[in-house]
Amino acid sequence: MQFKLASAQVFVPDGLPVEQALARTTHLAVAAHQDDIEIMAMDGVLQCYQRDDRWLTGVTVTDGAGSSRTGLYADYTDEQMQTVRRTEQKKAAVVGEYGAQALLDYPSSGVKDPSNPALVEDLKAIIDVARPRVIYTHNLADKHDTHVGVTLKVIEAIRALPKADRPKRLLGCEVWRDLDWLLDADKVAFNLSAQENLQATLVGLFDSQISGGKRYDLATMGRRRAHATYHASHEGDVTTGTNFAMDLTPLVADPSLHIAWSSSEGVTTAAAIIHPRESNPRLPHRNPNKPTSGNPRRGDRVPDRTTACRFIKFLPAGAASRGAGPACRRQ
Ligand SMILES: [Zn+2]
Repeated sequence: MQFKLASAQVFVPDGLPVEQALARTTHLAVAAHQDDIEIMAMDGVLQCYQRDDRWLTGVTVTDGAGSSRTGLYADYTDEQMQTVRRTEQKKAAVVGEYGAQALLDYPSSGVKDPSNPALVEDLKAIIDVARPRVIYTHNLADKHDTHVGVTLKVIEAIRALPKADRPKRLLGCEVWRDLDWLLDADKVAFNLSAQENLQATLVGLFDSQISGGKRYDLATMGRRRAHATYHASHEGDVTTGTNFAMDLTPLVADPSLHIAWSSSEGVTTAAAIIHPRESNPRLPHRNPNKPTSGNPRRGDRVPDRTTACRFIKFLPAGAASRGAGPACRRQ
């Protein structure tokens, strides 16, 4: 398979030829950085682990050159860090028994540039061969600009494919910002109770990021445990680990939907939940499992408008206004 960058590669842990390895894909995870797949798409890893009929293909988009480095790695050059991070991602592919692991090697700037079509072309080529049932990627309310940039390129690539070739589901997963603020009806909850040892090992393999003082290994497992308990207030825990995703499928099932739909809808619902209690403490607590009625009233304060608006800057000029209003409908 030919990618836009000469340094891009596909690693196949069991040695199958690349085209065959990609063709067996059922679950695809497209992530910005080395370690993001293991933090956000563990559902895909567990669904495919020790299965002959399900295979996870990982796609890591960036080159790792801009990684933070301290401790053992403090004096590493960009080139050395790229090697370390590429190796860490390959270790995860082996331990997690991925069907294939693509490393596309883009600088972060190339991911965030809306006028750069190269990544979209690479993603289209992978999806066209892999034909996954489900794609995991970042969610549109993520705090990290490169994460959101990846998601926009994934959506663009899927929309460019014939309808029959698009995945059945596109899920925007949590890394830099939890998704428990979404209404339960609007989010997907993954049950990550199985193989906690494997989950902890996979995140722990990324030593270059953890040993410098960012305990992604502890934080990721802790978040899963916290979601398991705080997901439902009136019943016992039904999992020992939970992760959430924003269901982005409508955006690729109907390309006429404006890309800002998902997040702006989320902010509207967050405002609808938060505002009445904030303005009138005597109001009873709302049950987040019950649907809310309509939009906030005129003059209501929206808690975080930046969430809805921040990623619009990645869109081509004029796109932010096209399709806004009634076309931003919800299926
Ligand atoms: Zn990341």
